[in-house]
Amino acid sequence: MSFKKYDGVIVGTGPAGIFTALELVKSNQKILLLDKGKSLEDRVKQGVRDVGSGWGGSGAYSDGKLNISTTAIGVKITDYLKEEDFVRLVLKADQIWVKYGAPKKLYGTDQRKIAMIEKALKKTRLEIKISPIRHIGTGRTFEVLEKMYDHLRQNMEIKFEAEVEEILVDEQKKVRGVRLRGEKEILASWVVVAPGRCGSGWFTGEVEKMGLKKIIHPVEIGVRVEVPAKVMKKVTDVLYEAKISYRTKTFDDFVRTFCMCPNGFVTDEVVGVNGHPVISVNGHTFSDRKSNNTNFALLVKNSFTQPFNQPNLYGSYVTGLANLLSGGVLVQRLGDLLAGRRSTVERIKSGQVKPSLNTAVPGDLAFSLPYRHLSNLLEMLKEMDKLAPGIFSFDTLLYGNEVKFFSAGPSLSPCLETEIKNLFACGDGAGVSANLLHAAVTGLRVGEEINKRFYEKNLET
Ligand SMILES: Cc1cc2nc3c(=O)[nH]c(=O)nc-3n(C[C@H](O)[C@H](O)[C@H](O)COP(=O)(O)OP(=O)(O)OC[C@H]3O[C@@H](n4cnc5c(N)ncnc54)[C@H](O)[C@@H]3O)c2cc1C
Repeated sequence: MSFKKYDGVIVGTGPAGIFTALELVKSNQKILLLDKGKSLEDRVKQGVRDVGSGWGGSGAYSDGKLNISTTAIGVKITDYLKEEDFVRLVLKADQIWVKYGAPKKLYGTDQRKIAMIEKALKKTRLEIKISPIRHIGTGRTFEVLEKMYDHLRQNMEIKFEAEVEEILVDEQKKVRGVRLRGEKEILASWVVVAPGRCGSGWFTGEVEKMGLKKIIHPVEIGVRVEVPAKVMKKVTDVLYEAKISYRTKTFDDFVRTFCMCPNGFVTDEVVGVNGHPVISVNGHTFSDRKSNNTNFALLVKNSFTQPFNQPNLYGSYVTGLANLLSGGVLVQRLGDLLAGRRSTVERIKSGQVKPSLNTAVPGDLAFSLPYRHLSNLLEMLKEMDKLAPGIFSFDTLLYGNEVKFFSAGPSLSPCLETEIKNLFACGDGAGVSANLLHAAVTGLRVGEEINKRFYEKNLET
């Protein structure tokens, strides 16, 4: 067994880990960044889309929409961070993205046009959250992340294909370091765990092993909707992404749109929890290539309590049904679903919306989604048609199933420290963020806290 001592170790080089490092770089500590995936250069070279692992994490192949919202979406980041810290860090994180090459252009700022959209919404039961959006675009995200890499690698050590298997803790409940797969121990005064969704199963296991209290979040299950771009144009030209939500009449469930991709492409994504990987759906818009369609996720949020309380496991089983039926992602025309029949290759071909995900297999979502979900989704689509006529059309494509897991993360303090001293957790894998900007915000918060303790000489173990 070999040992090496660092001031600190950051596990995961997605946006949460990178922004922790960007904040800490000023302090001249001896820091090691570890990722089980590859460098950005090698990720590109290997040609295969590994959406979640390596430099940039899921952010590398993401759509790069920065939601400069000072209200939390999906998970309640403000349950952890003080409101004033959150607002300050959102603006700070945004400016860092811009410094490394995110475009200056902001959507969602034209108040006159926003007022027109809000007026149209008053005639519906839909609600909207308006926030400025900066769109980097898939492709350009690589350039931005590469610049961050060039800056950080001059000041700290970065190791790829280095999977952390265990977090080391001493008897006084202080962190001691990490152990890599292959028995190599790395000692450090502090450890930041930022493992993203792809590492959340592993992290939940570690949280259980360390005997820490877990916070269980709801699961969101639904479909990816694809329509001709002109259907959403009036909304997407102004807002880029419309964050619309709806409380259904039948089940009183919360349904929302997520990750709207104007002129974008639908994509598949391997996600999973506790050894149950499944193929889900996602979407993105390239910075240099456009489709004629717009896609967005439509998700139903559910929690469980007694006797079953494993929302993520439920989500993987439901998504697994679509995989079982299609071998991956299933696609169906809305008209076929309403007519109670499956879509076929011919039926999809004869439709007006050409699928942007060629590998999706035509089938029947009524076999893969529970009645509750289907009913909720159809109700909201019908309501959305009042805002953007054409959404509830025969040829609208529905891809299933899309699932959003929130990690069963540990209970955390306002500076995102676990019950183990100097062990911090941030980003999607800790269950405290669900997008690029908020992952970055949580990384900055952790970085600021470690800097404070470092300067106060309060980090020695
Ligand atoms: C197709 C797609 C499009 C998206 N589009 C957008 C968008 O437009 N806007 C937006 O805001 N968000 C988008 N997202 C979501 C966004 O990418 C994530 O919210 C964000 O990347 C989360 O950052 P993170 O650092 O927490 O985790 P991640 O980016 O997932 O990074 C985690 C890293 O940790 C590493 N890791 C995990 N476990 C270990 C371990 N045990 N040892 C070592 N390393 C480990 C992983 O390899 C990975 O590199 C998109 C996601 C996808 C997949």
